[in-house]
Amino acid sequence: MSTAVRTRIAPSPTGAPHVGTAYMALFNLAFARKHGGKMILRIEDTDQARSTKNSEDAILDALKWLGLEWDEGPDCGGEYGPYRQSERLEMHQAAVQRLLELGHAYRCFCTPERLDALRKEQIANKETPRYDGHCLSLSQEQIQEKMDRGEPYVIRMKVPAEGECVFLDELRGEVRIDWKQIDHQIIQKSDGFPTYHLANVVDDHAMQISHVIRGEEWISSTPKHVLLYQQLGWEPPVFAHLPLLRNPDKSKLSKRKNPTGIYYYRDAGFLPEAMLNYLGMMGYTLPDQREVFSLTELAESFEIKRMSLGGPIFDIAKLKWLNGRYFREQISPDEVVDRLMNWKANKEHFSKIMGLALPRLETLSDFFPLSGHLFQESPEYKTEDLIGKSEAAEVSRLLKIAEWELEKIKHWDREQLASVFQNMAEMEEMKLKDLLRPFFFAISGSAVSLPLFDGMALLGPDLSRVRLRIALNKLSEAGSGLSKKGLKSLEKEYRSAYGKRIG
Ligand code: GLU
Repeated sequence: MSTAVRTRIAPSPTGAPHVGTAYMALFNLAFARKHGGKMILRIEDTDQARSTKNSEDAILDALKWLGLEWDEGPDCGGEYGPYRQSERLEMHQAAVQRLLELGHAYRCFCTPERLDALRKEQIANKETPRYDGHCLSLSQEQIQEKMDRGEPYVIRMKVPAEGECVFLDELRGEVRIDWKQIDHQIIQKSDGFPTYHLANVVDDHAMQISHVIRGEEWISSTPKHVLLYQQLGWEPPVFAHLPLLRNPDKSKLSKRKNPTGIYYYRDAGFLPEAMLNYLGMMGYTLPDQREVFSLTELAESFEIKRMSLGGPIFDIAKLKWLNGRYFREQISPDEVVDRLMNWKANKEHFSKIMGLALPRLETLSDFFPLSGHLFQESPEYKTEDLIGKSEAAEVSRLLKIAEWELEKIKHWDREQLASVFQNMAEMEEMKLKDLLRPFFFAISGSAVSLPLFDGMALLGPDLSRVRLRIALNKLSEAGSGLSKKGLKSLEKEYRSAYGKRIG
């Protein structure tokens, strides 16, 4: 293995670009830069059903907005391409074949029914659900017969029954995990596609990744990876698992409590350099304790061992404070004006709003009060107004259904937004106008405003979704939110009426 430092981020293109991805990218990049190495961006799209090109494009775009760059990736190429996992199937399948031949992997023909029953039984016995190795006892003839009959099968990796896996983590030292806790992981699905674990190891090896720096949620998967390296006769990379970002209440960062989309921060008027600076403070302090620093400054003095393991709190209030400091200390007032104009105070944006505001204008000064909500991070309003004459619980219900329905939108535009709400009005047997009333408040903070769908289209999905969430939180705080049980039954009701949820 070469000694050059090569790190990577490997996002799965299954949703909106997440601040967690930027956090990982930042430290991978800082580490690579510090050691004169390279950072690679690989798209892990083995989950074909959930991966989309839109999401891939958005991830790349959002990371670039933040000022993050990579040396090799699907957009810029490189010597170790292709950089999209789905284009590397041959390599994955060859590795699976080798594992089969070496006796480190086996075909499993178990039906979903058997696996389900096994799982239930293990849960009832308070055991960790895992495959019981049933198909390991099949003879070569039995396997051949089943294959000749065309029975579907997956390929699983063999995992030791006893003992423990020991590996080194740069931040934690020795990590020990009992093999008993590790499942006979499926490495190739019945459709011939590899799963994450196999593809990740094969690609990291082929791309000569020297350091795998990723989130701590992958620690429990690392034994599978270490074992695969061993079985394939490859030298594993160095592992470093960074602590996960947390909400101010210390729970895992989640969109229920904090906006998690990178675009939210862009659209709400945060500066990319302040955001990157803030992410650099997650679990890390510069040796001289400086609070304001650039990526280059972080990289120059970066020492991964200085990362703290306590879950770093991603606190939007602190981020705002830092963002404010950037306005006052880091960029000139003139530059702030330029940023403001680039952001939303520009002709293109004003023209779009003017199309909506014109029918209501008597004087120019009517323009800003009418369109203020399109420039705010979120509007102010009273919970009573949100509820109006409706039942508060019913408003919660509608907001939640809308949240799920909006996940299904592929292109966030006026037409698709209109069709979501029209469909909802039909399903709920309500007049569209009545259905929309609380949404007007949630989005614009007032009952009369610019047309709702156009406004939401201009705000974009990130700001709009967070506004619906804020409305839901307000109702919860007022005691009219959805309880855990209520949410479960609503999900059931939703599934039977509206279909499966996405996201
Ligand atoms: N595709 C995985 C993810 O989405 C990558 C995990 C890893 O870095 O190994 O987080």
